[in-house]
Parts: sequence; structure tokens; C-alpha cells
Amino acid sequence: MDTHAFVARLAQDLVRIDSRSSVSNLPLADRLYTELPDFEVERLEYKDPNGVNKSVLVAARGSFGLAFSGHMDTVPETGWTTDPWSGRVEEDTLFGLGSTDMKGPVASIVAAAIALPASVPVALLLTSDEETTKQGARLIARSSELARRFAPKGIVIAEPTGMVPVRGHRSHIEFTAVATGLQAHSSTGQGRNANWALIPFMADMQRLFERLRTDPALQDPAYDPPFSDFNPVIDNHGTAVNVTVPKASVRIKYRYSANVDPAPVIAAVHEAAAKHGLEVSETREGAPPELPADHPLIALASSMVGGAAPRTAPFGTDASELQALAPCVIFGPGDVAEAHKPTEKVSLSELAGAVPVFVRMATQVAGG
Ligand SMILES: [Zn+2]
Repeated sequence: MDTHAFVARLAQDLVRIDSRSSVSNLPLADRLYTELPDFEVERLEYKDPNGVNKSVLVAARGSFGLAFSGHMDTVPETGWTTDPWSGRVEEDTLFGLGSTDMKGPVASIVAAAIALPASVPVALLLTSDEETTKQGARLIARSSELARRFAPKGIVIAEPTGMVPVRGHRSHIEFTAVATGLQAHSSTGQGRNANWALIPFMADMQRLFERLRTDPALQDPAYDPPFSDFNPVIDNHGTAVNVTVPKASVRIKYRYSANVDPAPVIAAVHEAAAKHGLEVSETREGAPPELPADHPLIALASSMVGGAAPRTAPFGTDASELQALAPCVIFGPGDVAEAHKPTEKVSLSELAGAVPVFVRMATQVAGG
């Protein structure tokens, strides 16, 4: 197999298929399926919260080996001035939405799985909705018969880390707080604007944001930055300016690492909501994954790339869900700084260069 040509063609094909988290990923799953005739493949179907049909793939050969994971979905196409799905290649660079996060790395792990001899056990865990709810990874962790039977010794989540092993990252809690008013023409004096309850709540949230920036008890010096994000997005749901706002809501994303107890932050949000008469709900990812630097899987990944020191990351991945199956290392080709931008691109030789690294890693895990 000409690794570079294979990876370039597959990565380009994947970029050309629109698989934003908001649309169905079935065409992308179909395309990946065609590459896996020599594997046992389990396909799990589900509907996302908007009722869109989605599919995740688990492919395996043998058991008790290394598994590789990647997500099929991408972020929205915000801000692109060229076609995000053209799959344009210029010299060694593939441009497009999802090229680095993470259709390019997905092409690398598929190439590695195919390149391995049949005697080396290997599995692929191909998820969806990583960019939104992690629903695909959760489904595999909870319900995949094949993943359970394969019983991975470790999982490589091939997100673009520039082939530096990432041993842990934060997970998030998303709070939604809703203030309710009374809708009327604003001139009549009959209404009540929901923002007058939301604003004092937000003032308390600003104090909490500042506390997260300054209180070492809520921080983790093993992460850069050491403080958590606490990011509010406010919505008046399109109310016209001559109408008292009937519903004012704020969504706040809060991230924390394995060594931080989120309980004081959760309690502060709920206390402020109660004080100002807001309803608050929350959705949570799995617990933040983190392995010690000397964990065998982390040490193995480091040894593959000349002993590069493992890092931690402020962003989330499917590891928060897949760690239920096996220890996870985040380790893949490409530059995360390219991700989520309207100029996203990836180096094809970096993608191809990761393939023999993954092959060696799976071979060592199988022998160990
Ligand atoms: Zn990603």
C-alpha cells in the first residue's frame, strides 16, 4: 500500500462529504465502511436530540489489542469564504472543514488498521457528535458488543496533537438558566421583562467567573491555562424591541479537570439561580480523563516519538466517554490550532507519517 496516496485520497473523500454535527453522518459512515472489508464491523444507529439519523462504527480484528478512535462529525462551516467541502489539495496541503479535526487523522488510523498484519489485533471506534454531545462515543462505550468483545488494552484518540501525547483534559458541564417574564407591548406597562431577573443573576455569574480566575482552590496548575473557562451565551429568543421579553436564557460552558472538584461551582450557580428566581438545568460529559505521565500507555506513546513529554489539554475529546472501555491517550497528527477556523487545513505528509507510528504502537501493545 502506498500510504501517502491512500491517506491523501481517503482524507480528501471524507472532507468532500458534509458531516457537520447538524446533518446526518450516514454517507460518511458508508464511505468508511467500504474501507473495512477485512474487519468485523458493528454499526450502531441512533437519532440525535434533533431527530437526525446518525451512525457509529466499531471495526475489529482479533481481541485484546489497541483501539484507535476518531470522530466523523465537524463543527459548523462559519466564516468560510471558499467551499468548505471542496477537498482542495495544493502540493502537500489538504484544505477543508474537518481536514485536521479530524477527517485527516481518521484517514491515518484507518490506514494503520488496514496496514497491520491480521495477526495483530486492532479496533477502530468511529464516533459522531463529538463536537456537540459526545452521544456517539457514549453509545459505543455503553452498547457496543464488538467493543466489549475486543476488550481494548488502550485507546488512541487521534485528535490533532502534533503527535505529542496528551494524557488528560478537562470535561465540561453546560448550565442553562432561564428567566421568565410576561410578554406584552412594552408601552402598555402590562408586561415584565425577563432580563430584569437575568441581569442580577449574570452579575453573580461574573463574580464566579472572577473567582475562577483568582482562587487557586478552583484551578489546576497541570493545565494551561490553570483556570477553567466559564463562558456565558445570552439569548432573548428573537424578541422585538417593543415587546417585554418573555424568556431570557443563558447557556454557560464550564470546564474542569480531574483534580478539581466542580461541586462549589455547581452549588454557586444553583444558589444564584434560586436567589433571582431562575430555572437552571445542566448537562454533563463524563468525568475528565487523566492518566499519570508514567502510565504504560502514555509512556508507550511518548517512546514512539522520541520521548516527547506528555501534555494536558484544555479542550475536550471523546476520551471523557471512551475511558469507560480502556485507558485513553490523545495522540494524532495535525495542528489543533487549525481546527474550528474557516481556513482549516492539514499536511498530508504529517497524516501519512502517523501511520507507521500507529502500526508500531499497535504491534507493541499486542506483543506486550
Ligand atoms: Zn476533534
